[in-house]
Amino acid sequence: MRSLFALDYETLRSVIAADGLSPVHARTLWRTLYRRSREDLQQMRDFLPPLQRWSAAHLEQDWHAQMPKIVTHTSSSDGQTQKLLLELHDATRIETVVMGYTGRYTACISTQVGCAMGCVFCATGQGGFTRHLTADEIVSQVLHARHNLASRGLSGLRNLVLMGMGEPLHNYDAVMQALSIITDSRGLNLGAAKISISTVGLVPGIRRLADENQPYNLALSLHASTDEQRSKLIPVNRRWPLAELMAACRYYGEKTSRRIFVEWTLIQGENDSEAEATRLAQLLRGMDVHINLIPLNLTQGYQGQPTDLLYADAFQAILQAEGYPCTIRQRRGIDVDAGCGQLASRVG
Ligand code: SAH
Ligand code: SF4
Repeated sequence: MRSLFALDYETLRSVIAADGLSPVHARTLWRTLYRRSREDLQQMRDFLPPLQRWSAAHLEQDWHAQMPKIVTHTSSSDGQTQKLLLELHDATRIETVVMGYTGRYTACISTQVGCAMGCVFCATGQGGFTRHLTADEIVSQVLHARHNLASRGLSGLRNLVLMGMGEPLHNYDAVMQALSIITDSRGLNLGAAKISISTVGLVPGIRRLADENQPYNLALSLHASTDEQRSKLIPVNRRWPLAELMAACRYYGEKTSRRIFVEWTLIQGENDSEAEATRLAQLLRGMDVHINLIPLNLTQGYQGQPTDLLYADAFQAILQAEGYPCTIRQRRGIDVDAGCGQLASRVG
């Protein structure tokens, strides 16, 4: 049995057409999957008789529209961050985070169960890799986010960040398939310009995004400006060291004319010195970037501490003086372990 959530519109149309139904039914089915409430979806309401017959014959035999189960649902104390722990069909677990306020919400979704990259400061990396997510498991998280908002009487899911568990470019094909479904204007209709893919720096993936001119934003988790320092924090830096990584990012910038968002987790005494900020400025020279500074969130398997705000300000000031737009990002959801790098799919 395959998931209907793995199909793009054209493929769904050919599946329906192959069973002798007119395309209008594909449209109804698609709208039911992506535009209706959770209850409608469960009951597949309001189908015309031919589609009802198709559903009776094929749903739960060839195709299903099941979503991952919600195991727990935690809300941060300010109510602005909700974390969903989801269980997949094979009992593995992932997390999805919904955050924001007043009609401008962001979903932070996972792309893998665990992560193979082993960044030392990241709870997901500390837990190792289990498997890739399939396209439907990625799409379902956006639906869960929307249903979560709807259950609170809210709407306005605007932004999507692939910054949950996993490395999106390690699961390239499923991620791109999912994003083509998520951005379809007949369905979930999220704008490609409102979607950010965050990568630890998989060079072939960055070049592929550029060659395919994928319309999404790219965020690069850089975190260090020398190979020695970066390899300590991010083991995959040994495979694609800074020179290769920055060459790929420059290639991406030239090819797509898109700005790159550079993510920098500030760790006290590790990567927050003024010399480091100056080196970072040199590394990015001539590139169109926006730098996001994120004070480290605490995780069980790493002793490091977040940089004090005064030092973060100084780090930011150096980059701004060099002409780079640079923001210190608010830490969100940390009281429910829903902050960057804290997702470990534990209950509690
Ligand atoms: N694998 C991708 C996307 C998921 S991680 C990537 O690494 O880019 C999302 C972001 O959280 C990355 O920028 C990552 O470096 C950052 N991050 C990981 N652990 C963190 C922590 N403990 N505190 C703050 N940010 C962290
Ligand atoms: Fe994986 Fe990103 Fe965590 Fe590194 S920071 S271990 S790439 S999820």
